[in-house]
Amino acid sequence: MTSKLKVGISACLMGQKVRFNAGHKRSDFCERVLATQADFIPICPEVAIGLPVPRPAIRLVRSEDIIKVVPSQEPSEGVDYAQALTDVGRNFMQRHPDLDGFVFMNDSPSCGPANVKTYRTNGYQADKKGVGLFALAVQKANPLLPFEDAGRLNDLVIRENFMVRLSVYRQWRLLNNESLTMGKLIKFYSPYKYQLMAHSQSHYRAVGKLLANHERLPVDNVAVKFIELLMDGLKKLADRKSHSNVLLHLLGYFKRFVDAEDRQELLCAIDQYRLGVTPLVAPLTLFKHHLKRSSDDYLRNQTYWAPHAPELGLRSFI
Ligand code: SF4
Repeated sequence: MTSKLKVGISACLMGQKVRFNAGHKRSDFCERVLATQADFIPICPEVAIGLPVPRPAIRLVRSEDIIKVVPSQEPSEGVDYAQALTDVGRNFMQRHPDLDGFVFMNDSPSCGPANVKTYRTNGYQADKKGVGLFALAVQKANPLLPFEDAGRLNDLVIRENFMVRLSVYRQWRLLNNESLTMGKLIKFYSPYKYQLMAHSQSHYRAVGKLLANHERLPVDNVAVKFIELLMDGLKKLADRKSHSNVLLHLLGYFKRFVDAEDRQELLCAIDQYRLGVTPLVAPLTLFKHHLKRSSDDYLRNQTYWAPHAPELGLRSFI
């Protein structure tokens, strides 16, 4: 990757003391790991709409299909921050059309991207299916944008998945600066085939069919469907079974330049990984050792070998 990723982030995750209680929610992963790959654009939407620090906590209140954002204690008649938080989200996305992703603070009525508590007008909890109004505006402004909440990023599989999506989306943004042809689209997708296969076989098949373009659709129409399918497929979490399946597919290519004894060793490494004895980095290291002898660009260029910066060591934990 030539330059750092550009990632929006809830300001409290950067250690900024902007929460209702004048505290922060510093994220160790964002600060120590993601920061090596990304430049952050922090924003606290509640401060952006003019609320003070400290301030009364706010909550999502659901009344039929309408969501309001009101102070948790003693809601005042007519106070509703929903539109202001939505506007801040829209404006933020207009100012930063070149974002590669977003890390939201979880559980917040402004920033939580999913599973936020909502309340009834009588003060009782309604459900935990709300979305923070700022986060919702960001997602609506760019449905392709990879995002995660900071809580989910503590899960190492989700963390690895997020880094993959950030990287793929960044490359797509760069490609989109050029005028597209079917050839460029196919060339773009080629290195991501096995990565997508690891996440979702059905998306892998659908993209293959789409790019064959038997209906001769205009390239712009194909491109829109393609990136929706690719980003949607990559959201599915790859597991040991699906990674093992990809490695077995890739092993087929190694017949051409790896002898039977070494192939057997690769098979054992896949099996050890599949059974949970070793992390993904173990079979991959062995594969990459042999890959050096291959002159097959298609095989060598698969991003699956290193979808994000190896120094992050993310595949040592999945
Ligand atoms: S969760 Fe969002 S609104 Fe709340 S303090 Fe953090 S950045 Fe501000």
